[in-house]
Amino acid sequence: MTAPLPKPWILGISPYVPGRAAGDDGRKLAKLSSNENPLGTSERARAAYAAAATSLDRYPDAASTALRDAIAAANGLEPERVICGTGSDELLHLACGAHAGVGDEVLFVRYGFSVYPIAARRVGAEPVEAPDRDYATDVDALLACVTERTRVVFVANPNNPTGTHTARAEIARLHAGLPADCLLVLDHAYAEYLDPADDDGGLALARTRDNVLVTRTFSKIYGLAAERIGWAYGPAAAIDAMQRIRAPFNVTTGGQAAAIAALADTDFVDASRAHNARLRAWFAKEVADMGLRAVPSLANFVLVLFPDAAVAEAAYKRLMTLGYITRWLPNQGLGHGLRITIGTEDEMRAVAAALREGA
Ligand code: PMP
Repeated sequence: MTAPLPKPWILGISPYVPGRAAGDDGRKLAKLSSNENPLGTSERARAAYAAAATSLDRYPDAASTALRDAIAAANGLEPERVICGTGSDELLHLACGAHAGVGDEVLFVRYGFSVYPIAARRVGAEPVEAPDRDYATDVDALLACVTERTRVVFVANPNNPTGTHTARAEIARLHAGLPADCLLVLDHAYAEYLDPADDDGGLALARTRDNVLVTRTFSKIYGLAAERIGWAYGPAAAIDAMQRIRAPFNVTTGGQAAAIAALADTDFVDASRAHNARLRAWFAKEVADMGLRAVPSLANFVLVLFPDAAVAEAAYKRLMTLGYITRWLPNQGLGHGLRITIGTEDEMRAVAAALREGA
């Protein structure tokens, strides 16, 4: 008997595990497991999405032209060097698939975003994990892992699941140490949560270098996770390669319309950033006051470290029985940690109180 056989590298993939939204009993819980926006979505974006319901019979604009123009105008970029994707997840896969394959290596840090090894294996490339430095990206460790087979380096900045941030000078040093034929992908899913002063210089590097690509998303601060919209900016040759292999109609009409309106609603974005910064600082201090460690975060979540995996698991389970679902990550070597999204004020106060009581 013969049957279609998946490629061996496909069977080496551990599937992505999404944040849960319900408890073991199916009960819907306060979801602090997927780094979504607790303020919801801009009203203007929702209205634009609803208005797009009048043209459900037509394919979307395959080139996301108006959205790319809006992204370019908002960020001072050339629209022809912007590509939109079905979430930035698709763009990470496209960047990897266009530049790496069998026999190549794809490099990222330990405790990096879990899609990177999947993107590497999907195309038959080998994922290589560099050691972290106290949960943060270690540029020297990354550079030490570069070989003549390294084709793509992924750095999430801020990083998920740690929340750590790599400063502009370090990103520049990483780039300077990479071979010219190696693509540096700066994954900026959480960039909008940064103070402008903390900008890592990724877009500026991508403008002038032939081997830097930046990815961004509408899933986080813009509150459009359900619609799956991301974008990337990079050298013309990399964008051209990604355009060749993307799905033809990869961003929906409603998604394109909602994203354009969301970009224009800077009040909503500013309010979301301020809410996050205030509660993240408050929550991190609460965690420190209870004698636990919060890894320093510039994102919309905090990685809380417990004395060991058993304590972290017990806290995860107790928070779940109290109605709060967080992210326990034993599969990423973080059995002793819980990644907790910054939610509403009530949610954060309740989670802090539960942790204080030994959750
Ligand atoms: N990069 C990072 C670092 C992320 O945390 C996420 C979302 N979990 C993504 C990319 C993908 O987000 P999306 O596909 O929703 O744009």
